[in-house]
Amino acid sequence: MNTLSNPALFRQSCYINGQWVTASDSISITITNPVDQSVLGTVPSLTVEQTNEAIVQAHAAMAGWSALTAKERSKILYRWFALIEANIDDLGTLMTLEQGKPLQEAKGEIRYAASFIEWFAEEGKRVYGETIPQTVSTNRLSTIKQPIGVCSAITPWNFPAAMITRKAAPALAAGCSIIIKPASETPFTALALAELAAQAGIPAGIFNVITGDARALGEPLTQHPLISKFSFTGSTQVGRKLYEQCAPTIKKTSLELGGNAPFIVFDDADIDKAAASAVQAKFRNGGQTCVCVNRFYVHDAVYDEFLEKFTAKVAELNVGNGLEQNTDIGPMIARRAIDGMQVLLDDALAKGARQLVLGNEIEEQGNFINPKILVDVDDSMNIVHEEIFGPIATLIRFQDEDEVLARANNTIFGLAAYFFSQDIRRVYRVAEKLESGMIGINTGMISNEVAPFGGVKQSGLGKEGSRYGIEDYLSVKYLCVDIA
Ligand code: NAP
Repeated sequence: MNTLSNPALFRQSCYINGQWVTASDSISITITNPVDQSVLGTVPSLTVEQTNEAIVQAHAAMAGWSALTAKERSKILYRWFALIEANIDDLGTLMTLEQGKPLQEAKGEIRYAASFIEWFAEEGKRVYGETIPQTVSTNRLSTIKQPIGVCSAITPWNFPAAMITRKAAPALAAGCSIIIKPASETPFTALALAELAAQAGIPAGIFNVITGDARALGEPLTQHPLISKFSFTGSTQVGRKLYEQCAPTIKKTSLELGGNAPFIVFDDADIDKAAASAVQAKFRNGGQTCVCVNRFYVHDAVYDEFLEKFTAKVAELNVGNGLEQNTDIGPMIARRAIDGMQVLLDDALAKGARQLVLGNEIEEQGNFINPKILVDVDDSMNIVHEEIFGPIATLIRFQDEDEVLARANNTIFGLAAYFFSQDIRRVYRVAEKLESGMIGINTGMISNEVAPFGGVKQSGLGKEGSRYGIEDYLSVKYLCVDIA
């Protein structure tokens, strides 16, 4: 990895209990660059026995970490935050190499990832208990909040840094230890974060990163009796299974799952703003984000104007290697993702959708595909109901507010939704009726560390970031003292 100015960030081992560890049976996983499938390196395929051992060590380490004051933990977390910011160029490069997103986006994600550490370094100091008015005159009632215990997490490839810090930062701030299994496509960013955690002085056993076969390692991470809390970000399909695996030992569970975000353009919208925001909300990370728009509903009266402005902007997007300066859309993570999109595309075209010719198309090969706009889309097509997770925009006409609300809510998902309107009465009416955990109103960018991120319906359980994010890593203990 000679492109990094600090080669120490390129780690090809797991980080467990303060040690860099290889697999006891010497099996490894090869990691490739999605641009050309060239080999970047390998990571260990850890055994289940080694994972169990890591859990026991994380449990033992927690006693010392949780005994520190929140302010002492905060100082260490701040050092981690500062080191991540200081190494942003290398971390961004590493992420682009393994994940494919354009370098500027990768660096943006590093900043976003670091912001959770800064935020929870502060929030950890504000974990308050309460006093409760007694029901018996000689009783004194109160609550304290304590770290929930050892935490485990499984994270996806589309945000290789932020999906880790969004879980690890509140866990550590609360006084817990955590074991993380990143996606097998993007382990190097996670391991670089572990290197910086070590440099920051996070004690051995508190922040651990393991790599290996997801199904095999997923079992101890969801079933080991010493794990108190499991947090998952990924597909709804895998989330359901892992939720089930957590049930026998009744683990507290957070699930950040798939979405099917609608983007509604009402006839009173600022169409220039809607078109510009639509491009951001659809094509960020090549359409591979859980909050990416899946369906554009555009009012009949402004449909032509929106389509013209949106199409002009999409035609300016450049597809290419994320390390090249003018790239807007990098490669898709894997060929299987493109094959899945093709199935949805074929179904839509067979049922009457039309694909527009944009004029900026490159020859599609390997993991590269062009941004696409489909018009004449209707609700009979699978593409309206399934997560596309790629750069395909689907445009659907609508006539009135009640109709579009019913269509937008007609999904098992409820993560993000967006709408554009300049009528303040409509803004509140529609925001209250949309069945989504997060609503962007006159904006396509909603994610930050200070606001609660999370879905409703089958998009998940729990909130990450914000003042709510630390609660999942705490348990409330009630104290009843009799003073008679
Ligand atoms: P995925 O296939 O569900 O994989 C996510 C993680 O789960 C990976 O680490 C994967 O490991 C692991 N995994 C897969 N099967 C497993 C099993 N049987 N047991 C234990 N672990 C298992 O999802 P993805 O394709 O990486 O990510 C895309 C999905 O994530 C989309 O649906 C997207 O909407 C969702 N997402 C949601 C949010 C949110 O905050 N709501 C944010 C980002 C992404 P391997 O990589 O080793 O297979």
